[in-house]
Amino acid sequence: MAVTRTFSIIKPDATRRNLTGAVTAKLEESGLRVVASKRIQMTKEQAEGFYGVHRERPFFGDLVSFMTSGPVVVQVLEGEDAVKRNRDVMGATNPADAAEGTIRKAFAESIEANSVHGSDSDENARIEIDFFFKPEEIVG
Ligand code: GDP
Repeated sequence: MAVTRTFSIIKPDATRRNLTGAVTAKLEESGLRVVASKRIQMTKEQAEGFYGVHRERPFFGDLVSFMTSGPVVVQVLEGEDAVKRNRDVMGATNPADAAEGTIRKAFAESIEANSVHGSDSDENARIEIDFFFKPEEIVG
């Protein structure tokens, strides 16, 4: 299986509760390697652009408010089949549906404040990585 990259965000509910290390440990234990990482305060414009695909959804405004409510940690993760590997360790969007051992089962507060984002395809991973990182910021 090929080594690929995916994009991850540790969301404000997790940074607020000082869970950056705990979330990163679960990512690393799953076989993913952090090849870029930075803690940022997302602007409203960044959050609206990043979640543009959800613009028509009823929760869009709440999601943008949440994602700008505190710092986030944006990361590039590398590993075999990285997109699927990350989605597996993240768990279901709604923590009530998330499997044991997943990040969202362990840490998420709600369907919105669900601790992590992860790209859902290789194509979106490339787009999302480019949204937040310059090539020279990624050191594999
Ligand atoms: P993901 O790929 O598992 O993160 O899920 P989606 O792409 O469907 O949704 C993006 C993000 O929007 C989720 O991670 C949640 O933070 C938020 N979200 C999804 N569904 C809902 C919902 O029904 N209500 C609210 N308030 N937020 C939601």
